[in-house]
Amino acid sequence: MRVPLAAVLLTCSTALAWAEPDFPQKNNRWFEAAEAEIQNKLAQQPITKPAKNIILMIADGNGIATNYATRIFQGQQNGLLGEENVLPQEAFPHSALVKTYNVNAQTPDSAGTGTAFHSGVKTKSGVLGVDETVNFADCSAVEAGSVATIAEVLAAQGKAVGIITTASLTDATPASAYAHVASRRYEDDASVPEGCDVPDIAVQLLDQIKNGTIDIAMGGGRRHMLPETATDKDSKDRNRRDGRNLIDEAKEFGATYVWDEKSFSELDPSAGKPVLGVFSSGHMDYDYDRKDQPSLAEMVKLTIESLQDNENGFYMLVEGGRVDHANHAGNLFRALTDGVAFAEAVAMAEQMTSDQDTLIIVTADHAHTLSFNGYCGRGSPINGLCMGIDNNGVKHTDEMLLGLDGKPFTVAGYLNGTGSILTEENNWFGTRPVVSQEEALDPDYKQQSLLPLDKETHAGTDVAVYAKGPWAHLFDGTIEQNYIFNVMNYAANAKEEE
Ligand SMILES: [Zn+2]
Repeated sequence: MRVPLAAVLLTCSTALAWAEPDFPQKNNRWFEAAEAEIQNKLAQQPITKPAKNIILMIADGNGIATNYATRIFQGQQNGLLGEENVLPQEAFPHSALVKTYNVNAQTPDSAGTGTAFHSGVKTKSGVLGVDETVNFADCSAVEAGSVATIAEVLAAQGKAVGIITTASLTDATPASAYAHVASRRYEDDASVPEGCDVPDIAVQLLDQIKNGTIDIAMGGGRRHMLPETATDKDSKDRNRRDGRNLIDEAKEFGATYVWDEKSFSELDPSAGKPVLGVFSSGHMDYDYDRKDQPSLAEMVKLTIESLQDNENGFYMLVEGGRVDHANHAGNLFRALTDGVAFAEAVAMAEQMTSDQDTLIIVTADHAHTLSFNGYCGRGSPINGLCMGIDNNGVKHTDEMLLGLDGKPFTVAGYLNGTGSILTEENNWFGTRPVVSQEEALDPDYKQQSLLPLDKETHAGTDVAVYAKGPWAHLFDGTIEQNYIFNVMNYAANAKEEE
C-alpha cells in the first residue's frame, strides 16, 4: 500500500520519530542499499599515517565518458545489463573532479597534464617537466624552467620507483615522471632539432635509471633506444642517429633487460634492480590484439613484488596508455578492452597492497569527445546500436531507434574523427551510412562522428580522480590537476601521529 508523504510527515512530530519514519519504500532494494551506504560512509575513518607507498594509475584519455562506457562494457561482458557494474576504482572511498586544461590550452595534451600531476605545476601544452616559462620547442629555456617530479623527490627520500606503461616508455605520460624537455616529440635524438643540447627523452630515461631514480621501467618504445645500425628483431624500426644502443648501455651498468612474454615471466622479482622491460618497437599492442607481451596487470604484479622489499616503500606510475589511442582512432571497442585491462591492473594493485600504508590514486590525464545518444533501453550494447526503452520491463525492446533519416544509430559516438558521417565523396555533405548491429559490434568498427578529422581529439572536460589509503580524503570537490602532486608529496611526508 502506498502511504502519501503528507501522512508520513504528520506522524513524525519528534526528532526521534524522524530517525525511522515508516517509509513505504523501506524494503525497496534501492532504498535498502542507500541506507547501507550511509552506514559504510559513517564507518569510514580517514587514514592519517604517512603513505609508505604511492601508486598513481592513469588510464590515458579515460575521461568520465570513457570510464562510464568501460563500466557498462565490462558489466555486459559479465552478463549484466551493464550500468549496475562497479569498476574497482569506483569502489574507492574518495573522489574528486579534476580540471585538466594546460595554461595555454582549453583542450590539454598529455605532456602538459602529466607535468601537472607529476610536478605540481600547470604548464604549456606539449612540454615535459618544465614550468610555463618554457615555450614549446625552446630548448634554451629548459634548464632554468625545469621542475622536480614526484619520482625524483621520492627517490631522493629513499623510495624505490617503478614506471609502467603500455605506451612507449618515452611517450608523454611516462616521460612526465622523469624527463625535462621543451617538446614531447624529442623521444630520440633523430627528432631533436640541431642546436638543442638537451638530451632526448630516451637518453634521459637511461640517465634516470643509471642515477638510481628509476628502479623498474617497463613498456614499449624500443625504436627510440636503438641505433640505425643495431641488429635487433625490430630492425626496420631503429631511430637513433647518434650510434648509441641504450639497451646495451643499460645492460652494461647492470640492468636486467626483458623483451617478451617469456623473458618477462622468467624474471625473478627478488633479483637485483634496475630492470628495463621493453616489449615492442613502438607502443605495446592493444590488449585485444596482445601477443607475446605481458598484460598491464602482470606488469603491476611483478613491479609491486619487486619494489615492496624496499624498506622505505615505493612510488609507482601505472599507465594504461592505449585507451587514448583507441579513442583517437574512433575505435571504441579497443578503448573499452584496454579500459577493462586497466581496471584489472587497478584490482591487482589494490589486492597486493594495504590501505594502511599505500595511497592508490586512479585518474586520467584528459578526456575525449566521446558522448552518448538517447534514449536507449537498458542492455543496449554500449559499443553497438541504441534500442528502445521497454515501458513494461527493464531490458530494451530489441527495436532499434531511428534518426529522422530513418537509420539506426549507435549508443556512442565522437564529436569528431575518422568515422565522420560527412564524406568527401559528397563534398562533405554526406548521407549517414546505414549500419547493422553486427557491423557496429565488430571489433574494428569506428564509431560515427560529426566533424571529419584524421584523428579524434582530446576534450577539455573534467576527469575524475579516485583514491584510497593514507590521505586519500584530501581528494574532494573540484580540483586543479597539479594538486595531485601536492597530495602525493604531503601523504609521503606526513608525520606519524603520536
Ligand atoms: Zn592523446
